Amino acid sequence: MLMRIKSLLEYFQKVWGMEPPRWDYLQVEVTTRCQLPGCVMCPRTAWPASWQSRDLSWQTFEALLSSRPLFSQAHLSGWGEPLLHPRLWDMARALRAQGVKVSLTTNGLGLNAEVRKRVLEHLDMVAISLDATRADTYEKLRPGSDFQRVIDNIATLCSAKRTLGQQRPEVVLLFLKMRPNLKELPEFLRLAASLGVDRVNAPNLDFIPLPEMDSLSLLSLSPPDPELEAISQEAAAEAQRLHLPFRDFSLSLKFDLRVCDANPLRQVFVTASGEVAPCVYLGLPVDGPFTRRFFKESYLAGNYFYGQVAENSLESLLQKSAYLNFIDYFKTPAAIFGLLPSAIPDSRAAKEIKKLHPFSASSGRWPPACHGCLKSLGA
Ligand code: SF4
Repeated sequence: MLMRIKSLLEYFQKVWGMEPPRWDYLQVEVTTRCQLPGCVMCPRTAWPASWQSRDLSWQTFEALLSSRPLFSQAHLSGWGEPLLHPRLWDMARALRAQGVKVSLTTNGLGLNAEVRKRVLEHLDMVAISLDATRADTYEKLRPGSDFQRVIDNIATLCSAKRTLGQQRPEVVLLFLKMRPNLKELPEFLRLAASLGVDRVNAPNLDFIPLPEMDSLSLLSLSPPDPELEAISQEAAAEAQRLHLPFRDFSLSLKFDLRVCDANPLRQVFVTASGEVAPCVYLGLPVDGPFTRRFFKESYLAGNYFYGQVAENSLESLLQKSAYLNFIDYFKTPAAIFGLLPSAIPDSRAAKEIKKLHPFSASSGRWPPACHGCLKSLGA
């Protein structure tokens, strides 16, 4: 009961904190291309034939920039490797000149001397996906990559930042938790501290496009396996001992969430083709419907767009029904009290959730586009 009251309070804070509609945080996909041929967890690996490889045009970027008063942070990443965009640093420079905080997520392979200089000059935060402590684990998860090269790039970046005496960019190491790598998490904290990064985040794998990828997931409808929990606890203790800020996403699902961590009330995602979506999971670079796995069952999903930047300013999209209808689901009193339909598809797993958690996410109202998304369960 206490948890339920806490979750309601958090929800009220998010919704009541709202001024007239605006987005604080703009996530901009500068490219959907990547130099790596097939990371095991990536939807591009799952759908190579339908993947649309493209770069954000400068024209679209300028259109976004003209809406600058709407947002104060820009994260220049989506479903691709941002360092590959030929005008990435022009974009970062233009955003910072307007007082916008700029960040991105990279696989770290391209952090050579020239790029490092730009990172130190233009970014407020850089997140680097590493996901493993051992080279063999890393190279199995990310075939074609080079563990030692990424490690050296991170160490050199952190050391250059220290030499310059700069506070920024914040360097964040990412560990996407999956079954093949979880046992390396405590050691990953030690590696991160030795490299000199500022923070570690360990999210769960929360998007599974194909049945072949089910075995990567650690999430389950039952309480997490005590052995997995013990690893998470060991990692947390290690982070504390090392005084290293660490966000570990829980393996326990939340059945009473009213707004997901992607927080579409405050954040928005712009795809490389200029479509504006609530989040990355509703803006995949594929045409037509796609499958999402929901506890080992395939569920048909699709993109959801508020509109196209080439035809509408961001300000005008905030007044359009596609946006207003989407966020209304999070704001109706019925959603607050969990009285309206489900965030989960009609599947075997959904029935189990409804039985076990009658006052759960299955009763909180979510937009239909979110149905079957593991983020709606706090993943
Ligand atoms: S629940 Fe999933 S699909 Fe819906 S807004 Fe959140 S992250 Fe996006």
